[in-house]
This record gives sequence, C-alpha cells and structure tokens, in this order.
Amino acid sequence: MANGTPPSEEIPATVPLSPGLQIIRRRRWFLWLVLLGYLPLMWVTQRITHSFERSLPVFFIWVGVLVVVTSYSAVARCPRCRNYYHVNGMSLLYLRRCLHCQLPLKADLVENFDDGWRPPKRSG
Ligand SMILES: [Zn+2]
Repeated sequence: MANGTPPSEEIPATVPLSPGLQIIRRRRWFLWLVLLGYLPLMWVTQRITHSFERSLPVFFIWVGVLVVVTSYSAVARCPRCRNYYHVNGMSLLYLRRCLHCQLPLKADLVENFDDGWRPPKRSG
C-alpha cells in the first residue's frame, strides 16, 4: 500500500471521531426503525387485506428492506481503527463498542475522551 507520509512523521494519536460515530449511530437508528416498524406495518397490512396470503408481499418487502439496512449498518467503519465497527470475522454484533478497538459508540460525546488506545506501530 502506498504511504505518502515520511517514516519520521508520527501517526496522530487522536483522530476526529465525531463524524464517523455519527454515521454509525444514524445507521443503527435506521436498523432500529425498520425492526420496530415490523409490527405496526403488519398490523396495518392485516387490517387492509384481511388475508395472510395477501400480506406476504409486504412481509417480503420488509425482509428486503431489513437486509439492506442491516448490510448498510454492518459496513460502517470505525473512525479510529478503520475496521468494520459491528463486524469481526464472520460475527455481526451490534454492541455499543467497536469490535476491534473497543471505541465506545458515544466516545465523541465525552469531553476529552481518551481510553489510552493508540494506533498500532507500523513494522518495517
Ligand atoms: Zn475501532
């Protein structure tokens, strides 16, 4: 990978966290809205159609939207370590910390947040 910075230049210990964490929180909210919208959506659909079979297209559309929103939130990158915030290997976990560097979801809301994490030293 090409690296434009001279080797003598230090990697900054702190990176701006707020924009990246806001993106992660927003995508988590999309996912929550889709999940919580299931019952009201299906209730309204049942009231309109009065039929299980005729409600199925709405159900499958909901599943499709759920897959898209879940994927969208899963590929959100941690602003600090640049790995996927909710994905580690084959695991997709919606914890409130980065699965790689343990950055809390609301670290940018804590004044002078510093948990001692530093970027890994580059070898070679
Ligand atoms: Zn991280």
